This record gives sequence, C-alpha cells and structure tokens, in this order.
Amino acid sequence: MNSAPPIIARSPTRNINAWFAGVMLAVAALGAAALLYCFDPAAHGFYPVCRFHQMTGLNCPGCGATRAAHALLHGHLALALRDNALLTLAPVALLVRFGGLALARWRRRPTPALIPASGIWGLVATALIFAVLRNLPAFAFLSPAGVQV
Ligand SMILES: [Zn+2]
Repeated sequence: MNSAPPIIARSPTRNINAWFAGVMLAVAALGAAALLYCFDPAAHGFYPVCRFHQMTGLNCPGCGATRAAHALLHGHLALALRDNALLTLAPVALLVRFGGLALARWRRRPTPALIPASGIWGLVATALIFAVLRNLPAFAFLSPAGVQV
C-alpha cells in the first residue's frame, strides 16, 4: 500500500502569467515613477485631483501623495513627510515586511502571507486614523503643504 500523498504539479501557464503580471506591474510602477520624477505635480495640472478634497475641503489619506512621491524621488524626505507622511513611511513598512519574510525563508520556516487578513485591517485602520488626525487643527502638520485646515 502506497501512503505517499499525491504530487500536485503547478501549472506552467500559471507561473508564466504570474511572471508576466509581475513584469507588467514593475514596468507600470517604473513608468509612473519616471513621470512623477520628471513632472512636478505642484507645477503641472495633468495629475488627477482628489474628488474627496474638492467636495468636502477635507484631506483624505491620499491627499498630497503625488507631491510626496515627487519629493521622495528627488530625495527631499522632509518635504515628502510634510505632503503625505503615510505614503512616505510606506516603503519603510514594506522593507520591514519583506525583510521579515526573507528572514523566515532563510531560516527555512513557513513563510506567511505578504499581507495577512489582520494586516489588511491594520492598514485600513491606519489610513482612517491618519485621515482623521490630518484634518484636526492640532495635527495640521500632517496636512499637505499649502493646504490650510
Ligand atoms: Zn485626497
């Protein structure tokens, strides 16, 4: 009697699709970064504006994100933090997470999901708290530069 579990082969087509999607995502991210690097959102009007801010006058978690990304790409960390601290600190959080995953893999331990369900709720809660705080006068330093709350 053979009690070995069946071997389930991964579909080569699925691997190629995932690889292609990853390459396309990287190309899109590099294109967006090049666009943001070359064209300052504060000086060019072709970037999308925040409809939430237009309708309410309040700052959403993403307000100032394109200006922060532009400042970050040019190495102006203080300006990026001023425009959108959440976006500016996101790469640090991603690096910590990827470092943890790499460490788990290096130690040959089970690799958890990149973003577990509890992590998604944590991200949503962080964005909501950030949105509330940046609209309070006591935390006006979290509002994008040039926006008066
Ligand atoms: Zn917004």
